[in-house]
Amino acid sequence: MSMPGSEYNPLRVAIIGAGPAGFYTLSNFFKQKELHVEIDIFDRLPTPFGLVRAGVAPDHQKDKSVQKVYDKSAQEPNVRFYGNVEYGSDINLNDLKQHYHQIIFTLGASLDRSLGIPGEDLQGSFSATEFVAWYNGHPDFADLEYDFSQENVAVVGMGNVAMDLARILCKTPAELSETDIADYALEALRHSRVKKVYILGRRGPAQAAFTPPEIKEMGEFSDADVTVLSEEARLDATSQALVEQSDNKNVQKNVAIVQDYATRKTTGKARQLHIRFLVSPTELIGEAGRVTAIRLVKNKLLLGADGVIRPRGTDQEEILPVGLVFRSVGYKGRPLPNLPSDESQGTIHNKAGRVMTKDGVRVTGLYTAGWIKRGPTGVIGTNKTCARETVACMLEDLAAGHILNPADPSIEGAKAFIAIRQPDAVSYEEWEKIDQEEVTKGSAQGRPRVKITSWEEMLAVAKS
Ligand code: NAP
Repeated sequence: MSMPGSEYNPLRVAIIGAGPAGFYTLSNFFKQKELHVEIDIFDRLPTPFGLVRAGVAPDHQKDKSVQKVYDKSAQEPNVRFYGNVEYGSDINLNDLKQHYHQIIFTLGASLDRSLGIPGEDLQGSFSATEFVAWYNGHPDFADLEYDFSQENVAVVGMGNVAMDLARILCKTPAELSETDIADYALEALRHSRVKKVYILGRRGPAQAAFTPPEIKEMGEFSDADVTVLSEEARLDATSQALVEQSDNKNVQKNVAIVQDYATRKTTGKARQLHIRFLVSPTELIGEAGRVTAIRLVKNKLLLGADGVIRPRGTDQEEILPVGLVFRSVGYKGRPLPNLPSDESQGTIHNKAGRVMTKDGVRVTGLYTAGWIKRGPTGVIGTNKTCARETVACMLEDLAAGHILNPADPSIEGAKAFIAIRQPDAVSYEEWEKIDQEEVTKGSAQGRPRVKITSWEEMLAVAKS
């Protein structure tokens, strides 16, 4: 038979993971006007859009508007969504190889990195990953409970996830009630007695991972003052020289915003956000199994031979009383059955998106894109270029005949096998029922949507 890609012998592609990288894989395939491709996109949740739904902060609705673009892709006649189908349990690699010429993994990075310090497992110490999923109504995290009767909270890490988390803690219930934050989270935060939120960065303002719009928002709360210690805002000579030489305008903007905060006086707002630099947690201190304080060591910065500025602990210590700690020090991918993974990075071994064995041999027909390919970096749009690179490899391999040889590449064949493995698979039309229900409930309350946060209810609405 001729190479797949024609009307009567379409290329069959399976995308595992319906987040941004999965949807940008779709849109990159659509650009190939001469190629006939039939794509099935899978997700373990009954809902599509990955981190755009369950990761992007609820008060950043603008960032969620890309869903409209994804929605358009999903409506194409050559695309089928299979929600509530989990890779590794409902379907596995051997199954997929029976039905598809190419399989691409776009599952993101769902695990959190830990600090590796004593006390990390005390009650009251949480990962940002689960807190973000909780307030976004992810059904696996809806049962978590956070003790917002605590007045002092620490957020460890200085990336944009830390900014998201601190914003959610500092905003008023009135501000949060305009968002699509999960109802239970809104209710819990309505009774929050949090007064002080500390964001703890181990390096200085010139090395912080946040971006200018996100750090700027920290100075705009209706009922929280932001403070930065002037000695921590001041750059050391090496950082100052690097900032001056750098073409990266973001770093200069970040430093200027932080230094402006250091000049501000508190205005008596109900909450205070303290952004601290040059401190590393060395221990979470507890009483009766609960975190009561965090021990910090003051850092100085050292320039390595590789040009990277790193923190080095001094003998100066400080103990901050806190009753809640959120670790926001990055995400990593979950190792996947039958795929070569780089466990330290939390990624699938790959070269430009082609899955490779640990010995550097290309694995026919398997690809990856997004955070599980390159690690948890970049904004949503970064996945567009990331997926473009992988799809270019997929097309090149197709042209060279380096594809899988499925026994039954028909659309019906895949549909039948999925129906056996997961009779409650959710189609795109069924997801639209969930969507409609959420938006209708939301508009009655002047909110973008009221999320359904349990598996049972999602499935009941989808199958209604
Ligand atoms: P991130 O940007 O990589 O930031 C991780 C932070 O954790 C850094 O400040 C890092 O400090 C710190 N850290 C790492 N290990 C640490 C340790 N052992 N002790 C203390 N601090 C430690 O990760 P993220 O915040 O999870 O964000 C992931 C990606 O999503 C980023 O690309 C981010 O921009 C993106 N994102 C974007 C938005 C948005 O556009 N609004 C929102 C959320 C997320 P060092 O720099 O010193 O290593």
